[in-house]
Amino acid sequence: PSNYRDRQVVILGLARSGVAVAKLFHEAGAIVTVNDKKERSLCPEADELEALGISVVCGSHPASLVHSGVALVVKNPGIPYHVEPVERAGQLGIEVVTEVEVAYFICKAPIIGITGSNGKTTTTTWTGLMLEAAGLKPIVAGNIGRALTEASLEAEADNHMVVELSSFQLKGTREFAPRIGCLLNVYETHLDYHGTMNDYVASKAKLFANQREEDTAVLNADDPACRQIAEGVRARVVLFSTRSKLQSGFYVEPPLASSPDKEKRRLVFRDEQGPVHPIVEASELGIPGSHNIENALAASAMAYTAGAPLHVIAKVLKEFRGVEHRLEFVRERDGVQFYNDSKATNPTATVKTIESFKQDIVLIAGGLDRGSDYMELLPAFQRQVKAIVALGETREKIARVAKLAGMSRVKTVDTANNAQVALTEAVQEASAMAEAGDIVLLSPACASWDMFPSYEERGRMFKESVHNL
Ligand code: ADP
Repeated sequence: PSNYRDRQVVILGLARSGVAVAKLFHEAGAIVTVNDKKERSLCPEADELEALGISVVCGSHPASLVHSGVALVVKNPGIPYHVEPVERAGQLGIEVVTEVEVAYFICKAPIIGITGSNGKTTTTTWTGLMLEAAGLKPIVAGNIGRALTEASLEAEADNHMVVELSSFQLKGTREFAPRIGCLLNVYETHLDYHGTMNDYVASKAKLFANQREEDTAVLNADDPACRQIAEGVRARVVLFSTRSKLQSGFYVEPPLASSPDKEKRRLVFRDEQGPVHPIVEASELGIPGSHNIENALAASAMAYTAGAPLHVIAKVLKEFRGVEHRLEFVRERDGVQFYNDSKATNPTATVKTIESFKQDIVLIAGGLDRGSDYMELLPAFQRQVKAIVALGETREKIARVAKLAGMSRVKTVDTANNAQVALTEAVQEASAMAEAGDIVLLSPACASWDMFPSYEERGRMFKESVHNL
């Protein structure tokens, strides 16, 4: 920011991070304009910024904000690249970056950056807890926790900045380079924003593009996109795998799917050509599901690289009970267990969650239509889902897959009603179809914005309905 003294900086998006970035550039002496599409009355932060002498433009994204006098545009990751001011900046050759790029230049602590299609929040939280237990003073920020720039200002060299990064954030980086970068997996999601799979993978790969030899890239040996990236990175590669033994890295022994005996699996670490160090038994992990074994291995790899000892990592692996709205146990009623997995906002996440259970499932699914391929749900539906209540924009599409799977009990809930009423109805329908020993699971396979302000709100309403049964 100090390079922008007396120069014009335009900040697009007035969310938490926009406010933090605006103040930062203002304090560095830049001439700052903040812009948000929302009406002024919906931008409570505007008054405070204006009182500091920052210009605030609300109500639309006018192209006129960006002109040849502007030196930099900082864009909220949620704002698409096709809005006029961003296109204008492109035409004029003005740099457009996200908050992560700004934070990189002010953060004194080493950055641990975590991305992937699924599992980011779980893995980021888990890694933070491991570093905390090891006394390595983590600050967890980014998509979860605090705004990254704000946290970066306070970070000291002995902290570790543990950051969850979306591909949206990474797309807007130039020189950003984490000390440890981790790509968990790449699934075909978020295509509505990125347009093509190549663009999506390229955004994820940017995490490693500027790393140096002394940095570390933690990558999933089971994921084809990760393997490809591993071949091209400059940093030291640490692999993790649930499917095969590795020459070195973090893996499961015996590999998943190689034998049916789940109880005897161990998570282990092997040093290059060295001995195998057992960490924990898979059955000792505090949260279920093979996807959480992946997340556990990735978190362990990062924490170990940052300096946490294996026995401390093991302790946190056993203690962690997961993050709200991710496979969250809600209650048991008449032998039926209710789980809230509202954060499953794409089909892959829902498949993973279904596969985490051995019991029969009555599923509540559906939500915003992002054009995903819901046929991906078919095998999991056939195997384990006995009945479905579908709601939201995608209800008919999901009901169709359920019927293809041979389910006889497929209900749809009319969502013209208010969201709470519809969800309550869905919970009652699902509960009526479940028998003792079954699971009633909210795992929508879709984003929430067709009916709810956020997936958190959807999860909270679900829990409320379940408690009210
Ligand atoms: P993110 O922050 O990337 O959205 P979360 O940790 O919040 O990921 O988990 C969201 C959902 O994604 C979980 O409820 C689970 O269904 C699924 N999931 C979590 N980890 C993985 C993984 N490693 N691979 C595939 N799916 C996963």
